Amino acid sequence: MDNKTGFSRYAEKQHPLCRVVQRRIVMRILGALLWFAFWVISCTLWGQDNPYMSPFNWTLLGVLIGLLGWKLFRLGDLLRDKPFEGTITSMKLKYVWHSDTPWLHTRMQKAPQVTAIVDVGGEEPIKFRFPVKDIHPKDYYAVGDRVRHYRALPYLEKENKPEDVVICVYCGKFSYITEDTCEVCKKPLLK
Ligand SMILES: [Zn+2]
Repeated sequence: MDNKTGFSRYAEKQHPLCRVVQRRIVMRILGALLWFAFWVISCTLWGQDNPYMSPFNWTLLGVLIGLLGWKLFRLGDLLRDKPFEGTITSMKLKYVWHSDTPWLHTRMQKAPQVTAIVDVGGEEPIKFRFPVKDIHPKDYYAVGDRVRHYRALPYLEKENKPEDVVICVYCGKFSYITEDTCEVCKKPLLK
């Protein structure tokens, strides 16, 4: 059963948010594969009777554009992103350039970002960065908090949650602890 103190059952893969995240990961991998197939097939077909380059070079071009899908669908980030559990040892706030549409680099603006150093015991501490959306995160996360990070989720789950609000680990907005889904993104909350 979910409760206010203690971590949610996300890790046991029974939590509805876990299913949402797994679906998104699958969509990203499928998207990258489709992008790759589209460019390889299109360039190969285009190169059949196109005089500017040899058919082999056209296919090679297709493969190169296809491989950009790795970056476009951020598969590297996904691969590097490992779940962890630990204790916050420090937090820093910094203003960084940020874009809502990172691939087009439009609407760039300076936005606050928190770097939390999380001691995961024994190994190197982890630097975990997340943008500030709502309440100042120092009013929610504190040094000494036990936290968990789950793959592909940008915010940390706190073990001991406050009485009143809970952060949406999916979008970073706060909701009342009595709610089951986030007010903004409608994703299930980790409680
Ligand atoms: Zn949300």
